[in-house]
Amino acid sequence: MRIVKTINQLRTILGEARRQGQTIGFVPTMGYFHQGHLSLMHQAKKDNDLCVVSIYVNPIQFGPKEDFKKYPRNLRRDSTMAKKENIDILFVPSDNIVYPKSYLTYIDVEKISQLLCGRFRPGHFKGVATVVAKLVNMVGPDVMYLGQKDAQQVAVLKTMLGDLNFSVKVKIVDTQREADGLAMSSRNQYLSPDQRQEAAVLYRALSQARKMIKAGEMSPAKIKAAIRSVIKNGSSGKIQYVQCVNADTLQDLKCLGGNILIALAVFFGKTRLIDNVSIRLHEPKQNKN
Ligand code: AMP
Repeated sequence: MRIVKTINQLRTILGEARRQGQTIGFVPTMGYFHQGHLSLMHQAKKDNDLCVVSIYVNPIQFGPKEDFKKYPRNLRRDSTMAKKENIDILFVPSDNIVYPKSYLTYIDVEKISQLLCGRFRPGHFKGVATVVAKLVNMVGPDVMYLGQKDAQQVAVLKTMLGDLNFSVKVKIVDTQREADGLAMSSRNQYLSPDQRQEAAVLYRALSQARKMIKAGEMSPAKIKAAIRSVIKNGSSGKIQYVQCVNADTLQDLKCLGGNILIALAVFFGKTRLIDNVSIRLHEPKQNKN
């Protein structure tokens, strides 16, 4: 595995690989790897001749009061884990390479960036869309791998890539969970032992919602109320939002149908956790009147 720090070096290596007809899979990350990251790498490695993983804690996607400074970073630990996955290139650009002093260009995916998490994290998805567009231009992959854990990020990035005519394909990998159901996240390490135990309530609540829907419940209000009640009764978590939306448009559903995304954000102390489940149902019957 090569650790690459400059765009020139990256382009030299990948240009040669491309000339030899090799396909390139790309996994953008902020590092501090867990099984979620590794599952994306595994899939990328399986599908492609060559796998590039980037680690970049992107300052412009963090709000002024968010955890940019304390976000966990450990390149030695990450490179050992990436090596075990047989990653070919670990790309670790520095801030002055990604955002030189003269930097002026940002990508705003309108509307869907303002929904769900976007309501509470102004500018977050603008930062994400900007850095991912830049990284995709640097790497030039055939396929990019993203986690379902960040469902809104998937929707925003797919829209951005389509709108800007990128030719990269996107493959979504299922959310990887701890044994008790908690979605893996680099931020889980902020949780105290008590909070960590309580946080498993999120997946219990989402699983109950899924069961209710499979059993025929069609009312988003009832589903959301059930989720809120499981979380409130089973933990000290403070709910930021619980929403039932269309998985592609992220618009609130008045009646459950089609490709449903049930997404939530909950604080345990100062740590904000997100999770979701997606459920595919037949479209609701249209009222003919
Ligand atoms: P991050 O380093 O948190 O920016 O995440 C990098 C990529 O890993 C994103 O595409 C995430 O959606 C994905 N990811 C993070 N956590 C998980 C998880 N628990 N399961 C699957 N993918 C994940």
